[in-house]
Amino acid sequence: MTTSAPVLPPVDFTARLAGRAQRMTASAIREILKITQEPDVISFAGGLPAPELFPLEDVRRATDTVLTRYGPAALQYSTTEGHLPLREWIAARAGITPAHVQIVTGSQQGLDLLGKILIDEGDVVLVEAPTYLGALQSFQPYGPRYVELPTDEHGIDTDALEEVLQSQPAKLLYAVPNFQNPTGRTLSLERRRRLLELTAQYGVLVLEDDPYGKLRFTGEDLPSLYELGLERAGGDPERSHVIYSSSFSKTLVPGLRDAWVQAARPLIEKLVQAKQGADLHTPTLNQMIVAELVQDVLPRQIETVKRAYGERARDMVARIQEHFPPEVSFTTPEGGMFLWVTVPEGLDTVPLLAQAVARKVAFVPGSPFYALGGGANTMRLSYSSATPEQIGTGIRALGETIRAAMD
Ligand code: PMP
Repeated sequence: MTTSAPVLPPVDFTARLAGRAQRMTASAIREILKITQEPDVISFAGGLPAPELFPLEDVRRATDTVLTRYGPAALQYSTTEGHLPLREWIAARAGITPAHVQIVTGSQQGLDLLGKILIDEGDVVLVEAPTYLGALQSFQPYGPRYVELPTDEHGIDTDALEEVLQSQPAKLLYAVPNFQNPTGRTLSLERRRRLLELTAQYGVLVLEDDPYGKLRFTGEDLPSLYELGLERAGGDPERSHVIYSSSFSKTLVPGLRDAWVQAARPLIEKLVQAKQGADLHTPTLNQMIVAELVQDVLPRQIETVKRAYGERARDMVARIQEHFPPEVSFTTPEGGMFLWVTVPEGLDTVPLLAQAVARKVAFVPGSPFYALGGGANTMRLSYSSATPEQIGTGIRALGETIRAAMD
C-alpha cells in the first residue's frame, strides 16, 4: 500500500525553547577539542583521570561482594538521599551527621541542582577569574549575573572581594580552593579565613567545590572552607554558610558518577526535592560499590594517584622551564591535575591551538574559563594522563609553537 502523506514542514523547536534553554551554550571547549582528538596528537587538553591507575580488580571484587551481600536490593530503586553507609562514612569524616549529606550523580549534578535551588534570574554569583567552566554551564540556565573576582597565585584576592561586596549584594560565591580547575592554584589559609569573614558579614553563601583536595602531592594540607566554616559555627552545621561539594571521580573513578554535597539541613532537604525531580537517586549499585571501596581501596588509591600526578606535574614543570620562552609564565600546582600558562599579551591561544595541533600537541585555550570574557593569552594544561614521553615531546612542540607565534 502506498500512502501519499503530505510533506510536513520541519518543526521550529528553537523558537519554542524555554528562556533557560536559550541561555545554555555549547561548551566552547567541546567544540575546540574536536580538533585535538586525532590519534597522533599529544593532548594536554582533556583533563581525564589516568585510566591505567583505575582499581579495576577492586571494583570487580566489590561489585561481586555487594551483589552477594545485598542481592536484588543492589539493583532496586533506593532513597534519594543516598546509600546510608556511604553517607555515614562521609559524615563521620566531616564531623557532621548523614542528614547533612546528599549523594549526587557526579558533583556536576550537585552544581546543577544547587544552581536550581539557589539562583534566581539576576542573582549575583561571584566566581573566580578564571573559574571551572562546568560550573558556569550548570548555573547559566538559572540566569545568574556573574561578577568576577580577580585571582593571583594565592587564589581569590580577598581585598578585591571586599570591594565587590561593598558595592553590591551577592547571593553566592562559587570557588574551587584546592588545585583549582583550570589554574591549579590553591587559596591560602589566610585568605580562606578572610573570605569566610567577608561572606558571613555580607550574607553571601559560599559554594566550595573540592574534587581535588585529597590529591595534594606537595606541601601541607589546608583546612577546607567547610571545615573552617564549621569551626566558626561552633561545630554546628546549621550555622555554617558554607556548602561543600566533593566527588569520588578524581580519587577513585569518574564513571561510577558518585559524589556528594554537605550543608545545613534545610539546604539538603531542598536538594533532596530537586534531586527527586532530576533522577530520583544516584545508581544504587554504584553507591554500594563505592561504599565497599572507601575503607581500604580509596586510601591506597589516593596515594597511588598522588604519586603519579606529582611525578607528572614535576616533569611537566621541568620541561616547561626547559622549552618555553622566558616571557611565558605558568603555575606550579601542589596537587590536582592542571597547570595554567600565560603567554605574552597580544597572543591569542585560540588560533595558537590550531598551530599547536599542526605540531601534534593540544591544550585548552583559557578564555572560556572566564565568565565575562578575557584571558585570550592563557591556556590550561593537564598532566594527569600523560606519559613522560608525551610530556617531553608535547611540551617541546608547544614551546616551538609559542616561539613561532611570538616572532
Ligand atoms: N568541579 C570541578 C572543579 C571539576 O573539575 C569537575 C570535573 N572536571 C567537576 C566539578 C565534576 O566532577 P564529577 O561530576 O565527575 O564529580
